[in-house]
Amino acid sequence: MKIESLNAWLPNQKPGSPLVIAGPCSAESEEQMLRTAHALKEISEVSVFRAGIWKPRTRPNNFEGLGEIALPWLMEVKKQTGLKVTTEVATAKHVELCLKAGVDILWIGARTTANPFSVQEIADALKGVDIPVMIKNPINADLQLWIGALERLNLAGITKLMAIHRGFSVGEKLEFRNDPLWKIPMELKVKFPDLPLLCDPSHITGKRELIQQVCQKAMDLDYNGLIIETHPDPDKAWSDASQQVTPSTLASIISSLAIKKESS
Ligand code: PEP
Ligand code: MN
Repeated sequence: MKIESLNAWLPNQKPGSPLVIAGPCSAESEEQMLRTAHALKEISEVSVFRAGIWKPRTRPNNFEGLGEIALPWLMEVKKQTGLKVTTEVATAKHVELCLKAGVDILWIGARTTANPFSVQEIADALKGVDIPVMIKNPINADLQLWIGALERLNLAGITKLMAIHRGFSVGEKLEFRNDPLWKIPMELKVKFPDLPLLCDPSHITGKRELIQQVCQKAMDLDYNGLIIETHPDPDKAWSDASQQVTPSTLASIISSLAIKKESS
């Protein structure tokens, strides 16, 4: 795979510090997004704002995202804060709407990565487009599916690729919501040393109290960054309430981390 380094396209990223992406699991209102983003802007390490607009859920009757109406709110975050913005895409239509709106970075979620036809549809919609794409590991513990999704995007010409480790659903009740199975992302890192690897401690743990320890483990393993769900009032969040942290908790988590200086 031909992959561009993070610094080639994120010139403001300080070498040696992790890329930090933060923001709510889901876009709930313009006010919620702007309030979160303005607080995150004060944390110097945060350079990208995340918010889910389309939310593929495992079972019906859960909140599946506000959809298209939230896209202008994301762009308002970008305009007011200067943060880059990212959201999840699961179909070609989502890609088209995001490209039209000017979203900076796209991500493919764990349920979509597990479906090669959906990944291919997204890849086809991105042919000839120069945009960074982050690919979460598939929901199940299958490294080949993860690699396959990265390859599909790369074959479509996407070279600003990143992998996100969000843990694996193993069908057992664990302390963590998803089993991290650290060996799998480590195998990916060995196979593709140029591919930036981010950790998503929010979906790994499912519990805000456990996020710091998983972030530290990721830093010890030389991950290139973190994506952490952040909400102004986590207990009231419309999705993933128990794993979201406030911007001020996020700031303490980040400042508590021991970061290897040679990582990039
Ligand atoms: C999310 O990032 O909010 C999300 C739904 O993630 P995943 O695809 O990892 O479950
Ligand atoms: Mn979430």
